[in-house]
Amino acid sequence: MTQATSSAEGTQHGWAGRVLEAIGGLYRVQVDEVGEIEASLRGRLKHAARAVDRVVTGDVVMVSNTSSSGSWTIDKVQARHSRLVRAAPGGQRPKVVVTNVDHVMVVLSVFQPAFDFRSADRFLVLGEACGIPSVLVLNKMDLPGASAVAQEVLRIYEQIGYAVLPTSTQTGEGVERLRALLEGSVSALVGPSGVGKSSILNTLCPKLNLRTGPVSRRGGRGRHTTVGVCLLPLTTGGWVADTPGFSDVSLWGVESRELSGAFPEFREPAKRCRFRGCTHSHEPDCAVLAAVEAAQIREERYKSYRVLLEEK
Ligand code: GDP
Ligand code: ZN
Repeated sequence: MTQATSSAEGTQHGWAGRVLEAIGGLYRVQVDEVGEIEASLRGRLKHAARAVDRVVTGDVVMVSNTSSSGSWTIDKVQARHSRLVRAAPGGQRPKVVVTNVDHVMVVLSVFQPAFDFRSADRFLVLGEACGIPSVLVLNKMDLPGASAVAQEVLRIYEQIGYAVLPTSTQTGEGVERLRALLEGSVSALVGPSGVGKSSILNTLCPKLNLRTGPVSRRGGRGRHTTVGVCLLPLTTGGWVADTPGFSDVSLWGVESRELSGAFPEFREPAKRCRFRGCTHSHEPDCAVLAAVEAAQIREERYKSYRVLLEEK
């Protein structure tokens, strides 16, 4: 991937790398042939049209260093194959959180905090809206009574087509399967706070030693010292994105009419609604409402749909 070009500044070497973290105006970039470097943006990239989304964690970039100064610059951003997008605080703008993600791992716990269908569905819809496949990770399986909850969750979500992975960082249940799923790809861990995301990351890569703590001791924000998103390298190859502050995500870019498409089991019945653009809330001859009545669509999923629809 190395290439050398000449310019007025002397000989430049170009390499491909992956952005692990953005810190102020600097970027931590992993370049296979070189290691980890810190790079700044080349002038013309700085003035790119969409300032907020110029270069973000996950991007594959071309970097070079001038032999005269030894400092690194990012010259080019490669096309992104996926983007995890949420609404920026205030809800008026999109914010690209991390790019080139292969899987979204939606983490929830069975108890402490109790499994919450609204949260699960909100994060699954986020994955659907971004076109990124999701896996539902059900953590804290060691707690008494967990298997009854797990059975219900498995019954509901596997029927829709989602993979559900029960885990426990205490007993190690499911950890090897999770490791295998993450191997060689880029994944993002999302979910409410307190469900065990940091603990899972620590279990997967013990070197990290991320701070974890009981739910009661911590506020919604400020888990460990990172404020932004960073990619953590896995020993088995691949990266996992830690997304602090992603516990209460507002969706971006899902219009009311498209929302039902983000619920896979609504898609078939939605084709039979009388009205095109039916919101499946009050319209006559709505096939989605009929499917809810007939228990072909789970009540819990429909409730989540309505909550998200109200936010539009
Ligand atoms: P995060 O906010 O999602 O990153 O959650 P943390 O990793 O900080 O964990 C929150 C709390 O749950 C901590 O007290 C952990 O020790 C605890 N915890 C994490 N995983 C498990 C688990 O599998 N079983 C049990 N019983 N507790 C866990
Ligand atoms: Zn309808």
